[in-house]
Amino acid sequence: MKLTDLTITQAHQGLKKKEFSAIELCKAYLDRIKERDKEIFAFLTINTKKALSQAKKIDDLILQKREIPQLAGIPVAIKDNILVEDLKCTAGSKILGNYIAPYDATVIKKLKEKAAVILGKTNLDEFAMGSSTENSAFGATRNPHDLIRVPGGSSGGSAAAVAANECVYALGSDTGGSIRLPASFCGVVGLKPTYGAVSRYGLIAFASSLDQIGPITKTAQDCKTVFEAIKGKDGLDSTSIETPKIKNLKFKIENLRIGIPKEYFVKGIEPEVEKVIKAAIKKYEEMGARIEEVSLPHTEYANPAYYIISPSEASANLSRYDGIKYGYSTKEAKDLMEIYLKSKGEGFGQEVRRRIMLGTYSLSSGYYEAYYLRAQKVRTLVKEDFKKVFEKVDVLLTPVSPVLPFKIGEKIDDPLSMYLVDVYTVSINLAGLPALSLPCGKAGHLPVGLQIIGKPFEENKILEIGEIFEKTCQR
Ligand code: GLN
Repeated sequence: MKLTDLTITQAHQGLKKKEFSAIELCKAYLDRIKERDKEIFAFLTINTKKALSQAKKIDDLILQKREIPQLAGIPVAIKDNILVEDLKCTAGSKILGNYIAPYDATVIKKLKEKAAVILGKTNLDEFAMGSSTENSAFGATRNPHDLIRVPGGSSGGSAAAVAANECVYALGSDTGGSIRLPASFCGVVGLKPTYGAVSRYGLIAFASSLDQIGPITKTAQDCKTVFEAIKGKDGLDSTSIETPKIKNLKFKIENLRIGIPKEYFVKGIEPEVEKVIKAAIKKYEEMGARIEEVSLPHTEYANPAYYIISPSEASANLSRYDGIKYGYSTKEAKDLMEIYLKSKGEGFGQEVRRRIMLGTYSLSSGYYEAYYLRAQKVRTLVKEDFKKVFEKVDVLLTPVSPVLPFKIGEKIDDPLSMYLVDVYTVSINLAGLPALSLPCGKAGHLPVGLQIIGKPFEENKILEIGEIFEKTCQR
């Protein structure tokens, strides 16, 4: 097996048994990036020197026969909206094109404590707004399974890097599907944790009541390892809380009640996607799980509510990029107001400007009640839908996306059709639930992701349900 094919578990074993060194592992990935990333464009920054010196430290520990943590020496890629001290953090935007992170995000601090080797920072839709990674100010990332297609977004760089074996695992962020959609499009595993399970400190804010950082990996087991490493209460994010330790749950699949929301299988879903998803559901049924149709009646309102709430929060969060405090500043302006206006106008891309306008509009006096407040009421109804079905079933199975990875350029001029790609993912963020995107088959050469939605803080369970599928069914 090639070093660049390894999972976290395999790489850890290999390091411990001295089958290869951390330096060899790191070099194999840096070479792979050099060779493959010309086509894929998953990386915005490559951290060659520091990655190698970190790997050297791990080798020294191993030489001293010291016990090493599971993630020690394992090369990871980080979405470029998560701060890594002394590395550029652009959020895919010209406005932060030269911004160097002055400190580590909490998740990075945690990974560094486990001696992770950070390979670099990955491409994303500007400020994580998008579903295709085409909204990056630095160019589009390509899907490793088909270079003329998008990798999904907004964590497209992270998912493509894992799928192209340019790193062992990656971190992404998910506000309305940005971990799960690219994981699905690239045929890798992605976890959006329960809101609050992972600290958001050091994540460049998009919509703070929805944003969560999570792992993108090759297997559900790896996903468990990374989630365990990054989760937990953090004094620097008051919405974070401590959650149960990841352990082997050993539940019986025969006792598992799986709900299939009927609203997720209506018009709009591509027949090839539906076929692969239904076959995956059937596999769980054959393994003995009880399958039951359920209803989430407010599903159709989730997407419109998301596209009011998230831009509203974004318009507030992005007001800090004023051309004065930090980031891009316009070259010529006659007064302060012109600095603000020109810096934002020149620094933000089209989609970001659209979201700021949408958000400012829905929050403005006279429209607030009609848009923002109503969307918040819908959010409560969506949340209650899930609460009710979770009284009857343990988990829900749905597609991640109604469509297969589409072609680069296909939807970029039609924002509404781009927003519709998120119909199956945004309600999970509105409700704050955990959900896994698991590769469950292919339509032709294109991967399809199964979404496993769990009760709050039951990441452990959905990850094990994913593992059962991986073990039983060939990928
Ligand atoms: N595609 C969604 C959007 O554009 C979700 C993005 C995300 O989760 N960051 O808002």
